[in-house]
Amino acid sequence: MTAGVGETGGVRVLVVEDERRLAAAVKRGLEAEGFVVDLAHDGVTGLHLAREGAYDSVVLDIMLPGLSGYRVCQELRAAENWVPVLVLSAKDGEYDQADALDLGADDYLTKPFSYVVLAARLRALLRRGVVPRPPVLRCGDLSLDPASREVRRGAAPVSLTAREFALLEFLMRQAGSVVSKADLLSHVWDSADDIADLNVVEVYVGYLRKKIDVPFGRRTVQTVRGAGYRLAADGG
Ligand code: CA
Repeated sequence: MTAGVGETGGVRVLVVEDERRLAAAVKRGLEAEGFVVDLAHDGVTGLHLAREGAYDSVVLDIMLPGLSGYRVCQELRAAENWVPVLVLSAKDGEYDQADALDLGADDYLTKPFSYVVLAARLRALLRRGVVPRPPVLRCGDLSLDPASREVRRGAAPVSLTAREFALLEFLMRQAGSVVSKADLLSHVWDSADDIADLNVVEVYVGYLRKKIDVPFGRRTVQTVRGAGYRLAADGG
């Protein structure tokens, strides 16, 4: 994971592709560009190698026997393995490239592609390095992506201010549990802000409800009298 990008000679790439001729061709193409390439021909082997081997990047086909590329990517991210992943997708594939990015891939290429382009994309990923991408937080059909800072109710994007986002993220990380106003104040508001007033929490919870609940007829942010707030799955 620490190989220098300037000298691709030491950069190790795992290619997971079940079409053996294509896999062999990708291997030759990338080796010609100076990469060191290992191959796996099914998802289970690919996941195992990606976990165990110290790869600088993984090129992952989507439709794979055993375990799909999506699942492989999902499993890696769930295990907090942030190796850069480039997904290969067929043009008429069952899935969308956007799905791959949602599941934690870093980039994608549609088949057919040139090895020069693939190599260039991989170098770009390697320059970016290992970027932690925490998985998307979900509560019912409400989702929050800490990496892209996107919030959605179902498919509908919800626009939040930075403070509202931080408030929702804190509640979502403890969804189902009661969170006190004092806890919210100390975690979401900088202690240096010198805001001692718990009412500010109530005000912001009100703002949040107006954006994530009211327009959708939901009651996600519940008031627990005398204790604080609890985020409950409502919808989805
Ligand atoms: Ca395939």
